[in-house]
Amino acid sequence: MSSEFIPQEGSCSCSSNTYTINNKPIGRFICHCTICQEFTGQAYNDVTILLKSDVSKLNLIRTKFRRWKLPPNISRGLCTRCNKPSIETAVGGNLILIPTTNLPNVAALPEPSMHLFYNRRVQDMDDDLPKCNGFVQSQAMTVKALAQGMYKRITRAC
Ligand SMILES: [Zn+2]
Repeated sequence: MSSEFIPQEGSCSCSSNTYTINNKPIGRFICHCTICQEFTGQAYNDVTILLKSDVSKLNLIRTKFRRWKLPPNISRGLCTRCNKPSIETAVGGNLILIPTTNLPNVAALPEPSMHLFYNRRVQDMDDDLPKCNGFVQSQAMTVKALAQGMYKRITRAC
């Protein structure tokens, strides 16, 4: 079937940490919050979201997880070797957040659907995507987009 997702092996920039995504991501966002800036060392974090069950073959021996205060319940993993983002988890590990640059075939991923914490940006974005400001709005829009992503997947399976 042509709509089937071809698995991709992602990794941190030095390939010490690897994992395989086996299903179409349920969302993709560009987050401009200051923690994402610190975590990535970039102006923003382009992050692709999957369910825990979509990700297999996790080899994270060189990933060190850390929690920042906000946004809550996100555990962010940095590679202990290259010191670049490896993988993130949220909602008790049930959601997997992968920095999109860690995935080899970006063309097969969904397009980013919006900007989060845009009020914290250090770089203006020249696109037509919705731009959410602050925690409450960013959180609400994220939940809505992820629900839509999951719904799309369920209806596709019918
Ligand atoms: Zn690394």
